[in-house]
Amino acid sequence: MAAAAAAKVQEVREITRIERVGAHSHIRGLGLDDSLEARHVSQGMVGQVSARRAAGVVLQMVRDGKIAGRAVLLAGQPGTGKTAIATALASALGYDTPFTSMAGSEIYSLEMSKSMALTQAIRKSIGVRIKEESEIIEGEVVEVQIERPAAAEGTKVGKLILKTTDMETVYDLGGKMIDSILKEKVQSGDVITIDKATGKITRLGRSFTRARDYDATGQQTRFVQCPEGELQKRKEVVHTVTLHEIDVINSRAHGFLALFSGDTGEIKPEVREQINGKVAEWREEGKAEIIPGVLFIDEVHMLDIECFSFLNRALENEMSPIVMIATNRGITRIRGTTYKSPHGIPLDLLDRLIIIPTVPYDQKELQEILSIRCEEEDCQLSDEALTILTRISMETSLRYGIQLITTSSLIARKRKAPEVQMEDVKRAYELFLDEGRSVQFLKEYQQEFMF
Ligand code: ATP
Repeated sequence: MAAAAAAKVQEVREITRIERVGAHSHIRGLGLDDSLEARHVSQGMVGQVSARRAAGVVLQMVRDGKIAGRAVLLAGQPGTGKTAIATALASALGYDTPFTSMAGSEIYSLEMSKSMALTQAIRKSIGVRIKEESEIIEGEVVEVQIERPAAAEGTKVGKLILKTTDMETVYDLGGKMIDSILKEKVQSGDVITIDKATGKITRLGRSFTRARDYDATGQQTRFVQCPEGELQKRKEVVHTVTLHEIDVINSRAHGFLALFSGDTGEIKPEVREQINGKVAEWREEGKAEIIPGVLFIDEVHMLDIECFSFLNRALENEMSPIVMIATNRGITRIRGTTYKSPHGIPLDLLDRLIIIPTVPYDQKELQEILSIRCEEEDCQLSDEALTILTRISMETSLRYGIQLITTSSLIARKRKAPEVQMEDVKRAYELFLDEGRSVQFLKEYQQEFMF
């Protein structure tokens, strides 16, 4: 089951990779040095130094396994990098650490109960690193034959004869193997390895017994010793899937295709219990490891008292992810009650929180963030255009400024300019309103809009 689950999830990962430039795709980590001090600009992060340093301490707690039962609250104005810091923490935890981001209000829009929505969000944030063994065969190529039909006619087929000391084996080649043979320019006389699990073929060099100083292209080849025995190595292959993905794949009502549409609906508690049992078994056998990921809930004041008590209980669980919540509210009413509390969060949950404040950026920091975003979006901005964009961001919001990068670069491209100039930013500013001007516009034309 492990292999099947992992193979299917691989396909899902490939699809999400298409969306390369996301709102936080420029962030690759918290940008801390070895002593967890924040470098002013590093790994895509700019400024917000004390919040990043605090997040670094949280990172250390997570690594030391000391975060259990606690959660982190990021409190600060909109656009001060709360989501960015949570994303950075998840990346710093490792490339296969799951990160789930949701807004508190999403709980009410999903077609499932609030507790089911939270359970799924929690299980999406817990990774299971599954270890499998794969066999690697090393030998000398006797012959390669590849038939390449016209592209329209379908897949390529081929055969490869591999010699190990005492025998020659004929391999039927599949599409992926052929691709790696062509990429590695494998020919007879080469020493290669074949990974039986993935079909990946790696060319190690020319065989010593058939050594020639120069290959067909006239370049000197690397000599390797001809294999003396049938070299079969065992290697560990690791895949990480989330508990939620395993739930969906094994849920008879949905099947793995639901992962593509995201329409997973309710998953029966029996399925989850069964999966928990299976994962516990794999852990005992040393086949799997649990990777607690990060569950980030923005606008947490939108959750109601029932959701808060559910979260409180979930934090007690041994398999809980790192819960990071964010809000820009001060003292406000706890949804579902008549009581007010700091950030609209009940006191028993507040008590468990590590609170990290985020502060507004100065002009220089905004300019640095904007130029990192320009690079991320492959957009050339003239110095003047960047200065005006920074001023606009100071007066409106960082988010609005970032939106203008894309729009003004489209405007520049339309007039076939290689670089975004001030006039393009100005045009985008006139075409697309920021929040303040939009409200003003509605106020001025209220009479015409409402009857
Ligand atoms: P909200 O309260 O509205 O959810 P937020 O505090 O979560 O806002 P982000 O969404 O993190 O703000 O920030 C807005 C944009 O600015 C994002 O694209 C984010 O990646 C980028 N950003 C914010 N802070 C930084 C930073 N310190 N370094 C680099 N990029 C940043």
